[in-house]
Amino acid sequence: MSELIQSLEGWVDYRDRVLASGQPIGLVATMGALHEGHLELIRRARTETDCVVVSVFLNPTQFNDPKDLERYPKTLGVDLSLATEAGANVIFAPSRDSLYPDNFSYKVAETVLSSNLEGEHRPGHFEGVLTVVMKLLNLVRPTRAYFGEKDYQQLKLIEGMARAFFLGVEIVPVATVREADGLALSSRNVHLTAEGRKMAPEFHRSLKQTTTIEEVRRDLEDKGFTVEYVEEVGQRRLGAVVLENVRLIDNVPI
Ligand code: AMP
Repeated sequence: MSELIQSLEGWVDYRDRVLASGQPIGLVATMGALHEGHLELIRRARTETDCVVVSVFLNPTQFNDPKDLERYPKTLGVDLSLATEAGANVIFAPSRDSLYPDNFSYKVAETVLSSNLEGEHRPGHFEGVLTVVMKLLNLVRPTRAYFGEKDYQQLKLIEGMARAFFLGVEIVPVATVREADGLALSSRNVHLTAEGRKMAPEFHRSLKQTTTIEEVRRDLEDKGFTVEYVEEVGQRRLGAVVLENVRLIDNVPI
């Protein structure tokens, strides 16, 4: 079983020993409730770095909806075994108070890329994301950090932050892992009923169609999704929908 470290002091001790031995660290930052998408990031880190650290931290500052935070699945015991099997050396699961000694009075903000799409529909979300990722990168000091393309705008913002602040970490993108029917894996999918689960892959199917974004929107609404946005930015088509009170996001290359 990988080591579970929950205190900052314990983590800093462990990290300093790894860094002193000259082993590169790979970071996979997660909010827990691990699934195959997370495990793919861990496996990739395993092949490219010596010490694979999986952080499990349900970051309150990136939730604009308190109900979403409250019902987010929490499965630390299972996460520990899944991450171990996928090749993690250590799970770093700090407490909220230890990661936010400042009570979130210090924030990392981005003002251009973050104002549309997810940023527009989830006020404050990206400040929470960028702030916690900055904290984790500073604490973990990885050579490489792995992020999923499933959260495409987040990935781009983290790449930009690493460049803007000369963080000296390589941000490695990992392709979206999907169910056989195309639904992007997400920790929130467990909240769908059997009927919702059957309908959910229509989101990806519709995004992939080579029609206009207006047609995609209409198609999804006809099928019973509430559409927050469907937009094309550069070579990507990105969307967010709500089905049975479950918010789903996805994106495809165009
Ligand atoms: P989360 O626990 O949702 O914050 O996700 C942690 C990391 O896993 C992020 O970099 C996500 O983009 C990535 N991730 C989540 N779901 C998937 C997926 N289906 N495929 C690839 N990466 C994913």
